[in-house]
Amino acid sequence: MAIQIVNSRCTGCRACMKVCIFNAIDADGKKITINEKCTACGQCIVACPFDAIENVGGGEDVDLSAYRHVWVYAEQRDGELLNVALELIGEGHRLAREISDETKVFALLIGDGIENLAGECYEYGADGVYLIENALLKNYTTDGHTKVIVDAVRVYKPEIVLFGATHIGRDLAPRVAARLNTGLTADCTKLDVRVKSYIDYANDCTTLDTANLDPNDPSTGLKQTRPAFGGNLMATIVCPRTRPQMSTVRPGVMQKRERASGATGELIRVKHSLTKRDIRTEIIEIVKTAKEMVPLQDAEIICSGGRGLGDATGFKLMKEFADKIGGVVGASRAAVDAGWIDQSHQVGQTGTTVKPKIYFACGISGAIQHLAGMQASDIIVAINKDPEAPIFEVADFGIADDLYRVIPEIMAEWDNADILYDASIKS
Ligand SMILES: Cc1cc2nc3c(=O)[nH]c(=O)nc-3n(C[C@H](O)[C@H](O)[C@H](O)COP(=O)(O)OP(=O)(O)OC[C@H]3O[C@@H](n4cnc5c(N)ncnc54)[C@H](O)[C@@H]3O)c2cc1C
Repeated sequence: MAIQIVNSRCTGCRACMKVCIFNAIDADGKKITINEKCTACGQCIVACPFDAIENVGGGEDVDLSAYRHVWVYAEQRDGELLNVALELIGEGHRLAREISDETKVFALLIGDGIENLAGECYEYGADGVYLIENALLKNYTTDGHTKVIVDAVRVYKPEIVLFGATHIGRDLAPRVAARLNTGLTADCTKLDVRVKSYIDYANDCTTLDTANLDPNDPSTGLKQTRPAFGGNLMATIVCPRTRPQMSTVRPGVMQKRERASGATGELIRVKHSLTKRDIRTEIIEIVKTAKEMVPLQDAEIICSGGRGLGDATGFKLMKEFADKIGGVVGASRAAVDAGWIDQSHQVGQTGTTVKPKIYFACGISGAIQHLAGMQASDIIVAINKDPEAPIFEVADFGIADDLYRVIPEIMAEWDNADILYDASIKS
């Protein structure tokens, strides 16, 4: 436990209990103790008039060798697995096999009446499924999911836990990490496992302090790479002293494995002690917004427009262009920030990560934060009137000209265009 009472200074005044919203402080007469509900939020430290509460950090030694296997939070909504869950099962499978022949990847399925989803998890690469079912878990709540995951991790001790960087994953993973007193790297774009000693490995990393690390430590370490400093450099982060190692990964970044129809695996039903009292929120009604879904992630062709469009009406041309060639409209953040198009169209570090067969970047300069979301596209075509624009450094084909001249020409040519490589793309 990171929060500790300093008995020599504590007067038993109970000021800490009044501010603790987690009911994590008990009193027996004048004796105050911290219980397992503590999240180390620190409110009690601030409230204590006698400096009698301290955060002693996660100083306890963790037996790294007790932790095994890779877990993937298999996020489902209304009984359907999210694509990112399947992508992460594929990535977890790859990591597990790299760690050792004995290491397995497990999907963590949480909900009510969702056992039928286990088969899909196996078919996409899971060796097994940890299944946690209860009526209280039917709809996502932070408290409910956090509790059952934390309890399961404490019992089964996975070495790595991966979450999709969805709204739910971004809400859940930090809570789980804080409760387990371990690290979390958010929004990873690349994962790898250590095969060298930490000391050798430190040469590859930007954030690792090698002091007190044992170079002969045989355990594996997860290299978690993500953009840092506004996307201007890629940082590789490790979690050398605590377990599990936890990451969130954006949808669309990792590859799904090819589906192996009929694959089976081990099903482990997890016992849990979740009660209604553990959940502080009550879902009264679920209102789904009627907002248009922009299918950027699955698009084979994306026509993205940036500030170079000049104003919002430029997106009319982009829509016409996209409709003509069977694509979906994307945008740079500058265009979104200008209010020319909805954020759901944004591609990049703070938008959607995409990998279509063809990505048209029209009037987009090629800032690193934009590239972070589209660089994996098969073919990048850049149209920019500045021949020095950085987008040309990543483009397979570059047209240094005015987009308002070039796009109508491409549309005019499209109908008789065998020029574009591949009939399947054109179709
Ligand atoms: C933390 C952080 C996160 C970010 N996340 C994202 C993100 O997710 N996605 C993103 O896109 N950006 C993101 N950004 C913003 C990013 O840094 C850039 O500011 C943005 O991508 C620039 O958009 P742009 O290329 O459309 O505009 P500009 O950089 O202004 O480029 C406009 C380009 O259009 C060209 N042009 C002008 N007129 C024409 C014409 N008629 N024909 C052809 N070309 C023309 C110009 O030569 C220029 O190269 C982020 C920034 C930060 C700090």
